[in-house]
Amino acid sequence: MLGKQGFNEWAAEYDNTVRESERQGTYPFAGYSDVLTEIFEAVDEKQQASILDIGFGTGALASALYNKGHRIFGIDFSSEMIERARKKMPEAQLVEWDMADGLPPAFDGLFFDCIVSTYALHHLEDADKWKLLKQLLKRLAPGGTLLIGDIAFRTTEDRQACRNEYENVWDGDEAYVVFDELETALSNIAKCEFKAHSHCGAVIQLRPECPFCHPVYDLEQRIVFETANCWFLQHGKAQGVLEGSGVIVPKQHRSSPFELTPHEWQETQELLGLVKPFLEKIAPDGYTLGWNVGEASNQSIGHSHLHVIPRFNDEPYAGKGLRHWLKKPENRRPGQGREER
Ligand SMILES: [Zn+2]
Ligand SMILES: [Zn+2]
Repeated sequence: MLGKQGFNEWAAEYDNTVRESERQGTYPFAGYSDVLTEIFEAVDEKQQASILDIGFGTGALASALYNKGHRIFGIDFSSEMIERARKKMPEAQLVEWDMADGLPPAFDGLFFDCIVSTYALHHLEDADKWKLLKQLLKRLAPGGTLLIGDIAFRTTEDRQACRNEYENVWDGDEAYVVFDELETALSNIAKCEFKAHSHCGAVIQLRPECPFCHPVYDLEQRIVFETANCWFLQHGKAQGVLEGSGVIVPKQHRSSPFELTPHEWQETQELLGLVKPFLEKIAPDGYTLGWNVGEASNQSIGHSHLHVIPRFNDEPYAGKGLRHWLKKPENRRPGQGREER
């Protein structure tokens, strides 16, 4: 285990402001070493992990991990930082790139065991942060984790309290994460955990949660057809009773079809055009196509998915469709008197 002692090198690198702020436990850098130490230890539990560092700065955290045998990838928008970091990590893949633009083409097709970012994300406005985090979550390898260490608060009240206490030195240009807001922005997409290391420093851990954002994680999920923005998926477990059934989903997380973009609609149609001849091999007598939206309709996965279900004349429920049981009298809402048609 590498304790605080092991991070002397960091101490040698921060400027005096950081050091003083941390030593006195004041905004903005209270808890700094603890934040970096926790992330270092969490990542170092993995063996020879591939690690992407977003905004690595001088490369202090990344080079500590590099020296433990992990494979380091990183972006930073400062060429000076890249030069300094490169000296410490000659084998690392470091790219000069602005995180506001997502990830560089050099990293296309790569997945990472851990993605880390320390004291960098507060340079992005909230909307841009959530957008970047959603992109990064898609680049985690199975079992992967995204770890953020930064000035951050659990609630808006906590942030306001810190702001009031330090109003003379508070940096209004920086956008510090409020965990409650992050959790809302990533609901259904990632499991989020918050661990405070001081009144203004925290580690936030994100793990992907949505199976349709990450079909490759599930060995039974088969990507049958793919367009630029959508997939047609068949799950092994669904093939027993509902032979041939599958779902068309957008690759980006959309909670329902009401949120699909024109491209996604168009590609949903394209995929239907590929799926039908494909399913014709099992000679269905008909199809049931449809979306459930919201809990009331029993939408079990909060990522828009069009069910494509081949139907057969010899099914016990042949002749019964989507509305069959919904329109039964037992499904009448309390106090709703009208006869159904
Ligand atoms: Zn999703
Ligand atoms: Zn469903």
